[in-house]
Amino acid sequence: MKHHIVLLSANQVTQLLFKFEHVRLLHVGPLALLAHINNHYWVIRGRCIARSTVGRCIQCFKTSPRFISPFMAPLPRERVIIARLFARTGVDYCGPVMVRSGLRKVTPLKSYVCVFICLVTIYNINTSRVSVVIVSRRFH
Ligand SMILES: [Zn+2]
Repeated sequence: MKHHIVLLSANQVTQLLFKFEHVRLLHVGPLALLAHINNHYWVIRGRCIARSTVGRCIQCFKTSPRFISPFMAPLPRERVIIARLFARTGVDYCGPVMVRSGLRKVTPLKSYVCVFICLVTIYNINTSRVSVVIVSRRFH
């Protein structure tokens, strides 16, 4: 359509048109609703009307999932007791990860990641001598 029909935002016809198209298009979101209506009409403050139409729709309100944040479990005792650094540690493993060192045509090496975590603070170590010894004992 070359020349779109201009609709005012405060007009009742405009709001009924948005509501009708919202239901006809199976309760689409405000962006899709506005994109569809913009194919035929030029609505002044159309995004505001589209959002209010979707926001007032009772079916959309009933079916929209609400995110409820899960309750966080209490921290373990090791995390809340004051102690020296690395007095209590944890280990996380992941892998295998394919690592390529060098430029092109280098065959990737299968590698594993080992992260040592200080439970007293949030510092991570992965290069200390103790950790290397523990890892080497674990994988050899
Ligand atoms: Zn709806």
